[in-house]
Amino acid sequence: MDNKKYADFLTFKRPKSLQINDLAALFCGVKKTVYTSLKDKEDEKAMNLLCSQFGFKKKILKEFKDIKGDKTLDILIGRDVKRMNLAAKAYLNGRPYEWGIWLDYPDCCVDFFGKWEKGDKNSLIKAVLEASYKGTFFDFKVNNVLNFYSRIKSEDLKFKHASFFKKNSDFFRLGLDFEPFLPWHPCSYFCKKSLKAAEEIYYFMSKYLPQTAEKRKKLLSSPILFKDDFDWFIINGNVKKNNKEISVLGSGVLPPLSLAQDRVFKKASKSEFPKDLNFFKKEKYILLPFSG
Ligand SMILES: [Zn+2]
Repeated sequence: MDNKKYADFLTFKRPKSLQINDLAALFCGVKKTVYTSLKDKEDEKAMNLLCSQFGFKKKILKEFKDIKGDKTLDILIGRDVKRMNLAAKAYLNGRPYEWGIWLDYPDCCVDFFGKWEKGDKNSLIKAVLEASYKGTFFDFKVNNVLNFYSRIKSEDLKFKHASFFKKNSDFFRLGLDFEPFLPWHPCSYFCKKSLKAAEEIYYFMSKYLPQTAEKRKKLLSSPILFKDDFDWFIINGNVKKNNKEISVLGSGVLPPLSLAQDRVFKKASKSEFPKDLNFFKKEKYILLPFSG
């Protein structure tokens, strides 16, 4: 396969509702089946071209009208039709565990997500953090703080999600990209299966889409001060370790911006780390030591 063909389909020839990480995962074999949707004729045309060029098959799951009243098709794509049929069956019969397994998510992560969904309504990020080792850095390739898929359930979070997009609309219009490498939520930042899969997706993207991979790496390997799903700061800096203590070296914050209170945001945007780290700890922010 020539590099240009992969690069073209990962960028301008890609159906717009299909994420780059999902398509890269399908191309490199980390995923055999991908769940996506089609919004309009243009999307459908792009999907048909993608499928014919790479030998993927399409399976329609359901047709519905989105919030704007536009026709949307939920579909699966992949080469293994038998597997897609089993996934579709699990989806239509409301069996989320099987559905996750047929979509190639690691069993530990599917299990973890199911338990979180049934349990208390704390942020999923806090649950992942709770399950992770302390006192050591997190790999940027499994950073899911900005992956809002599947974890935005309540009306309150849906409202905040919309506000987040509104607040950052200028950044997004200028092409700010914050998609993660891992297309699912890991069961911990040390989940071996997720780390291996994310490594393969990252390697594939670095080969065929080097600039995008590099840009994403820069953002996703920045440490984060986290309080809640829409209350966090991405620090413009790096983590460092002195003896057993992890601290941050850097200043100010990187976009996108969360919905943190103005008072705290003003402090964060001017902060010099590690000097001001205690202020944020007192405000109940937890340091997520993502690193490159
Ligand atoms: Zn896992």
